[in-house]
Amino acid sequence: MKDKRIVILTGAGVSAESGLGTFRDKDGLWTKYDLNDVATPEGFARNPEFVHNFYNQRRQNLVDATPNAAHHALGRLESEFPGDVLVVTQNIDRLHEMGGSKNVLHMHGEMLKSRCDFCQHVIHWEGDLNLAMRCEQCGTAGAMRPHVVWFGEMPFYMDDIQHALDLCDLFLSIGTSGNVYPAAGFVAQVRHRGTAHTVELNLEPSEGSALFHDSVLGPATEVVPSYVDDLLANGW
Ligand code: NAD
Repeated sequence: MKDKRIVILTGAGVSAESGLGTFRDKDGLWTKYDLNDVATPEGFARNPEFVHNFYNQRRQNLVDATPNAAHHALGRLESEFPGDVLVVTQNIDRLHEMGGSKNVLHMHGEMLKSRCDFCQHVIHWEGDLNLAMRCEQCGTAGAMRPHVVWFGEMPFYMDDIQHALDLCDLFLSIGTSGNVYPAAGFVAQVRHRGTAHTVELNLEPSEGSALFHDSVLGPATEVVPSYVDDLLANGW
């Protein structure tokens, strides 16, 4: 297994049992907010104060959240698996890192960072954002925004992710509904190559469920630790 590579795509479901709501489930955030208002560059241009307030509330939930058994199991997988393990997460929380994962790409950004819309300077930021803030690098006022990828914006690290998908031997998809592209298309890309095994671990079958070789259904805190134990003991 020394030269084997695992890519793990994660979504909101992996953090649900840490108390961070998912977006598309029955009580998900998109049932309470219009994503065009709070998760698009146009929404931010229309009403930046409203968007800041939305993210300020979410950021405080996230600062207090702690990793669950699924995050810890993935951290253990990275430290005990003899080959490469990469987590590609759509989540904007920091729970993978807190659970011990070091090799993590946040393709949709990170909520505990803020970016200047003018010069693109990124800072670590756990407090509230407001329109009076100035960028510490270029001095522009009112340009600091959440360092997250909104609908209509290009996800981060796409070259690195494509490269990892092209080389992986095992592709896992955990706690993601398979609704948001490009992440939802990763499994088809890996299957097309024909040499990697693909498994989804989710509460219920995701949109692309039929594309995976195997499906393990149940809460992430239960299915992920036992899947990782089995993987470390027996491979795939
Ligand atoms: P999603 O809300 O569309 O789907 C979540 C999936 O997780 C669903 O398929 C659901 O069945 C499954 N799920 C729910 N609870 C679960 C559990 N306990 N165990 C296992 N699976 C569970 O989320 P998504 O696919 O990640 O895509 C939507 C976007 O939401 C992403 O862009 C992401 O940035 C954003 N988001 C992030 C967070 C976070 O950072 N924690 C939270 C909410 C949404």
